[in-house]
Amino acid sequence: MSSPQNFGVWKPIAENIEFNALESNSNAVMAVAETVRTTLGPKGLDKLLIDQSMNRHVSNDGVTILLSLRAIHPVARMIVEIAERQEQKVGDGTTTAVILAAEMIKEGKRLIRELAVHPTKVVEGIESGIKHSCELLKKSAIKINLDAPELDQIVKTSLSSKLDGRVLHTLVVNALRTVGKDAIYNGLYDFDKAVQVIRRVDIEDKIFNGIVLERKRIDPELPSKVENSKILILRLDLKPVKESWIKENSKYQDILTMEKDRLEKSKKIVDTIVETGANTLFIASPEVDQIVEDLFVSKGLFAVHISNEEIEYLSRYTGAKPVRTLDDLKNKDILGVSEKIYEDEDNGIIYLENGRGKKIITVLISGSTKETSLERWRSTIDGINAAEAALNYGIVPGGGAAELHIIEKIKKLKLSGLEQVGLEVVTSALESIMRQILTNAGFNGLEKVMNAKASPDGYGVDIDSGEIVNMVSKGVLDPVLVKTMALEASGEMAKSVLRIDKNLAADDLNPQALADSKR
Ligand code: ADP
Ligand code: MG
Repeated sequence: MSSPQNFGVWKPIAENIEFNALESNSNAVMAVAETVRTTLGPKGLDKLLIDQSMNRHVSNDGVTILLSLRAIHPVARMIVEIAERQEQKVGDGTTTAVILAAEMIKEGKRLIRELAVHPTKVVEGIESGIKHSCELLKKSAIKINLDAPELDQIVKTSLSSKLDGRVLHTLVVNALRTVGKDAIYNGLYDFDKAVQVIRRVDIEDKIFNGIVLERKRIDPELPSKVENSKILILRLDLKPVKESWIKENSKYQDILTMEKDRLEKSKKIVDTIVETGANTLFIASPEVDQIVEDLFVSKGLFAVHISNEEIEYLSRYTGAKPVRTLDDLKNKDILGVSEKIYEDEDNGIIYLENGRGKKIITVLISGSTKETSLERWRSTIDGINAAEAALNYGIVPGGGAAELHIIEKIKKLKLSGLEQVGLEVVTSALESIMRQILTNAGFNGLEKVMNAKASPDGYGVDIDSGEIVNMVSKGVLDPVLVKTMALEASGEMAKSVLRIDKNLAADDLNPQALADSKR
């Protein structure tokens, strides 16, 4: 791909100079939206994904489907990227964001094309519409706590369209209540720090009060269980003599001296470690000499290799301070404590109980295949994220009702001139969420939405009976953060697309990409 410095060789994607970027780009977004549209809501349908090796996988998770699309059109790719970011930030609401964006782009394009409104004005209108929508949603949000029945409902709603959602819902809620207020860091719930979710094939779903490491001890000769363990987390280099030395010094006598030196240094390291009183070692060192490892085994130290990522929560849970140098081993308070550590040899996992540090619990997620365990694992994390967002920022009625009932309020804003027109782009999108959820449930979405709109705040449609109900009493709730983030992400998508007036590509663009961009 040419760099921007070669700007001279860039040219419009089509040979035809009049090629319409807005048309092509909005078509690309519509195509992406069409793929995920039917998955929205609890009655959404699944997609069968087939990867390059012909592996099949069924999913109804917006972001999974988006990421599996090998989108070549640059704008389609941009939509997928924004959706992915939304997923990373709040873990939910990606399908909603894409549908909102598609509606805004469709309506925005109509304004630009039919009414000759300048794209900048449309974009300004979208910006202010999104801003006001978010403010209104935040203002209407209801605060909840960990014991509130609404927390159950939030998790239920978030998992309603997922594989095995019911089972996972109970698991998630129990897990969060088990960890309780110990998950509060700096005034906000941060379950990332307090709840670990791991997945295994062929193991039962369970909540474990403690940490589960997907590891084995370094040698089966070591006992598989330690009581009252005193823990060291080792980051220091455990290879006192490097292999490169042997390559450079091949004389027999030199090698003998080196081997002696290697043994002595290794012994010294191990002795210093033993002196700390530790009986359990978590090793995240860059290199470990086999001699050092053998010495650990001969001294009966329970030792496990861990990754750098595992250091953080092991340290938080056990109170151990990671040791970086030999000198650090002399410091006070480096040892962590866990009352019981034991390995489940059949499943290759190690349990740690009763750490002296912060509380951490682990949710073990099973699955009959790797794919199902992965999908269930993702859903569990989505459920936890939804709960976290709800506890920290509050909740709003779900099923598209929150979005629907701010429309009238936004219309009353009375912004000046064309900006008001831009606002309508947002209001028409706000309606589309309920419409799509209902269409996916087999109703005439448009008609039902009209009825719901005429009802009081918080009212929407029961997707089983089709009756107009109070979504809050019905227990269909969403975290307000998921809604505001989805709105912001969709605004970002729509603005980027509506602002582009020409697609330029480098001279050497590959022909396939060129062909796809014209579709
Ligand atoms: P997203 O990727 O946007 O999270 P989902 O498929 O998870 O898409 O659907 C989320 C939407 O489904 C939310 O608007 C939520 O309120 C709605 N929803 C969930 N359960 C129900 C229900 N029982 N009735 C109506 N809407 C529901
Ligand atoms: Mg969802």
